[in-house]
Amino acid sequence: MKANRYSIFSLARNALSYHENWQQAWRSPEPKPAYDAVIVGGGGHGLATAYYMAREHGITNVAVLEKGWIGGGNTGRNTTIVRSNYLWDEAAWLYEKSLQLWEGLTQDINYNVMFSQRGVFNLAHTLQDVRDTWRRVNANRLNGIDAEFVTAEQIKALVPHINTSPDARYPILGASLQRRAGTARHDGVAWGLARAADARGVDIIQNCEVTGIRREGGRVTGVDTTRGFIGAPKVGVVVAGHATMLADMAGFRLPVESHPLQALVSEPVKPILDSVIMSNQVHGYVSQSDKGELVIGAGIDAYLGYGQRGSFPVIEHTLAAIKELFPIFSRMRMLRQWGGIVDVTPDACPILSLTPVEGLYFNCGWGTGGFKATPGSGWAFAHTMARNEPHALNAPFSIDRFVTGHLIDEHGAAGVAH
Ligand SMILES: Cc1cc2nc3c(=O)[nH]c(=O)nc-3n(C[C@H](O)[C@H](O)[C@H](O)COP(=O)(O)OP(=O)(O)OC[C@H]3O[C@@H](n4cnc5c(N)ncnc54)[C@H](O)[C@@H]3O)c2cc1C
Repeated sequence: MKANRYSIFSLARNALSYHENWQQAWRSPEPKPAYDAVIVGGGGHGLATAYYMAREHGITNVAVLEKGWIGGGNTGRNTTIVRSNYLWDEAAWLYEKSLQLWEGLTQDINYNVMFSQRGVFNLAHTLQDVRDTWRRVNANRLNGIDAEFVTAEQIKALVPHINTSPDARYPILGASLQRRAGTARHDGVAWGLARAADARGVDIIQNCEVTGIRREGGRVTGVDTTRGFIGAPKVGVVVAGHATMLADMAGFRLPVESHPLQALVSEPVKPILDSVIMSNQVHGYVSQSDKGELVIGAGIDAYLGYGQRGSFPVIEHTLAAIKELFPIFSRMRMLRQWGGIVDVTPDACPILSLTPVEGLYFNCGWGTGGFKATPGSGWAFAHTMARNEPHALNAPFSIDRFVTGHLIDEHGAAGVAH
């Protein structure tokens, strides 16, 4: 199916018919009995995988199976921070590939994902923070990634409402600044990728939960779903917090824990913050949405769980942190709060990998920070599924690293793990 192009002309043409004749953004087909490839999970990563499989590898007989609605998982629940200033080469290259894809995504998929390169500050509050920040800035520069160290005075000039008083409990001593980093519109990303994949022939099937993974002689043959069996010689699993449950169905275990992670937004106010501020030390991060709400992210709850909510002390702690950074926000009211289930690995890096079952691939472990990787992850995973071997960019992110010990330890290395 060819989607109508979105443009100023189609907007004008549809205005004449009171916007009643817009074509559906994607179809809702019945599942076929079999596909060349099935992708489980209709979040941003699953949809991006389907899109790049069609676009880069010409594989279009593909279904994306989503148990709820597309983008209803972490993709639609995150605080949308996009950056690539990771410490270790392997992580920096993967996230930088993604950032480069973000820079052309709106034009590429003909859908405005509202990618806003407003700059991200990772604050340093202690002498050790300052040293670690310099180290990361230098590592980023060696990898050709834009990074600057900014002093407290420079931060104050760029973010006038932030509290740079030396009397603060954790005074701000400096920050890393990545100017090409920023935010994107999360649900727009899911909808745009769905529309673009659908236009290339991919079937997006919502309300279709995968309940089993069928195998024969060590090979995958398809999936059992709430809408019947669907055959496929290749199955890619991209279900974030549910990854271990799907691995169970395939008979192996993953080194992944599922934790609740919360976010919240304030009442909308006039523009007051035009960059993203992240602090590892006081643990809070904040930006302002185009609607005017402050978008605030918390830390994970310590316990494991599958409830898309979290406990109150965690957001209380986060709001204390935000208030410490921005005393001016202290009387703002919070409007909404929610949670997602994040898939955390021991080294805070993802798994993009072949598995012990032939034809079965897993993409998970993005934890609290995978939104920024959406296009890059889909691009690399599409390559992995299409060629049955990882791309050089994701080869270091195989499941084997938990056996060989070749971990890529980004815990805390990149400021805040979001
Ligand atoms: C509160 C919060 C804040 C965050 N902030 C940031 C941030 O600022 N920046 C950043 O980079 N990242 C952030 N993240 C992380 C980011 O949201 C995720 O890493 C990323 O969105 C994962 O995308 P995904 O497509 O893999 O997963 P999801 O969007 O969760 O998609 C997985 C899909 O699989 C479906 N599914 C599960 N089981 C089955 C099944 N059996 N059958 C069929 N479908 C199934 C689910 O319904 C879901 O829609 C945050 C996460 C949360 C929760």
